[in-house]
Amino acid sequence: MNVRRTPEVLIVGAGLVGLSTAIALRQTGIDVRVVERHPGTSIQPKARRFNFRTMEVFRSQGIAQEVAEAAKGLADHQGMRAGRTLVDAEPLPAPPHIDFRELLELSPEQSCLVAQDALEPVLLRLARERGATVDFDTEVTGLAPGADEVVVRLREQELTVPYVIGADGARSAVRELLGITRSGAGELSRAVTVDFDADLGDVTRGREFNLCQVETPGAPGAFASVDGHHRWLFYTGEILPTDAPAERWATVLRTAIGKDDIDIHVRSVQAWRPAVLVADRFSVGRVFLAGDAAHVMPPFAALGANTGIQDGANLAWKLAMVLRGEAGPALLDTYHEERHPAGTYAAEQSAARTGGLREMAEPKDGLAHPFALVTGYRYASGALVDDGAGPQPMDRLSLAGRSGTRVPHVWLADGRSTLDICGRGFGLLTGPSGGPWLAAAGAAGLPAAQVANYCVDSGALLVRPDGIVAWSAPDASAAERLTDVLDGLLHRS
Ligand SMILES: Cc1cc2nc3c(=O)[nH]c(=O)nc-3n(C[C@H](O)[C@H](O)[C@H](O)COP(=O)(O)OP(=O)(O)OC[C@H]3O[C@@H](n4cnc5c(N)ncnc54)[C@H](O)[C@@H]3O)c2cc1C
Repeated sequence: MNVRRTPEVLIVGAGLVGLSTAIALRQTGIDVRVVERHPGTSIQPKARRFNFRTMEVFRSQGIAQEVAEAAKGLADHQGMRAGRTLVDAEPLPAPPHIDFRELLELSPEQSCLVAQDALEPVLLRLARERGATVDFDTEVTGLAPGADEVVVRLREQELTVPYVIGADGARSAVRELLGITRSGAGELSRAVTVDFDADLGDVTRGREFNLCQVETPGAPGAFASVDGHHRWLFYTGEILPTDAPAERWATVLRTAIGKDDIDIHVRSVQAWRPAVLVADRFSVGRVFLAGDAAHVMPPFAALGANTGIQDGANLAWKLAMVLRGEAGPALLDTYHEERHPAGTYAAEQSAARTGGLREMAEPKDGLAHPFALVTGYRYASGALVDDGAGPQPMDRLSLAGRSGTRVPHVWLADGRSTLDICGRGFGLLTGPSGGPWLAAAGAAGLPAAQVANYCVDSGALLVRPDGIVAWSAPDASAAERLTDVLDGLLHRS
């Protein structure tokens, strides 16, 4: 048997989560190998909406511009429509309780639309350019976690690695091999996606859409733009057997479009089941679950991949610091402590949005405000100093620099965002009266900045590499505790 000891982290699965986590690890200099059982990246468009928090993660990895470039084709396809057919559909008004102009103030990044099968090759290229090894046609078939390493079986080969991340999707072999159970409402409904090509220019020019709900009897569903020109998805129910002849599906599509003279090429018809299932553990010893392996959720809030990419961002810096000896191994326990409740919340909120586009525009009791859903969640864990502020309201976005929340964004005088303060490690933000903090940060080797008109004056925000406030210190008298606090957060003995 061929046994070798590389790399430092093995990622199982080269989907959006595996690839983006590989980029995050390379950003910190960690040696990473990704193995993928398929011969290439996904051929299904599936995820298309990448929210502004995910774009902030990409920004921290230096790849937001490349992702935005890949999303250019759908830049004008942001609106929602609904009607009897695609031809009749009218724009849906923006939900009255949401002011999208606020987004410009909330984040240095904007969300974007890019189909998963277009984004994955971009992430693959960037991961390889940054030094990750990505091997296709390589399937993990066995796993033996030990106290000091994990032995991974890749068909005929065994590999011994310090850490493994299972980013291997909803049917995760890593999760199964570890015997991790899942909880949640389970399958909610039955859905069918038809992936097709058609020149719909006459119907959609000047009437571009992200999603368009059609309410015609016999062909109810929603169209989604894939490339903005010729390729589309139609989400529907089990109105025909998935293996029905392509021409029968084309007839359904023409009914839903509202024109019977359109040439249609059906690429595929796939049945799938929206579900809520969350792994009961996101880690066992040296093995971690991320993305759909950890949590599956219905796509109606466009959170599945976004939540998974944020799992990777949360885990990467922790693994890097432990591997470099800058943090104790107990820091890795905080991955489950933080991401399990966040993933469960995202899945439950996604299930609560399982209505049509018209209903989704209405405010509803128990639904988080969309901006809060994207970036308002507050962690509680051993990688934070609890400021005793209690749970975060989710009916609105209120970012005030509390410990466990995403650091509030404002532009710094040098053109950077407060989110850019960290780089690869921790960073510190203080206000105009925070001189002692600058000295303490300098002594601790942390980048720091003073910000006017911010949520700190003589206090400070200690910011983690994933943009989360680790410590919200009320005043300058606490500056002398900075090193002790860092030691505690990082579980350094
Ligand atoms: C219709 C639809 C629309 C969606 N829209 C959105 C959206 O707009 N926004 C959003 O955020 N999410 C959306 N999602 C969800 C999103 O597609 C998933 O959450 C995302 O693909 C999960 O990524 P992943 O990398 O965790 O898993 P996957 O994409 O499933 O990737 C896992 C990879 O692991 C590989 N693998 C599995 N087992 C092994 C093994 N043993 N060895 C090696 N490799 C293995 C698989 O081949 C696969 O390539 C949507 C989903 C659907 C169905």
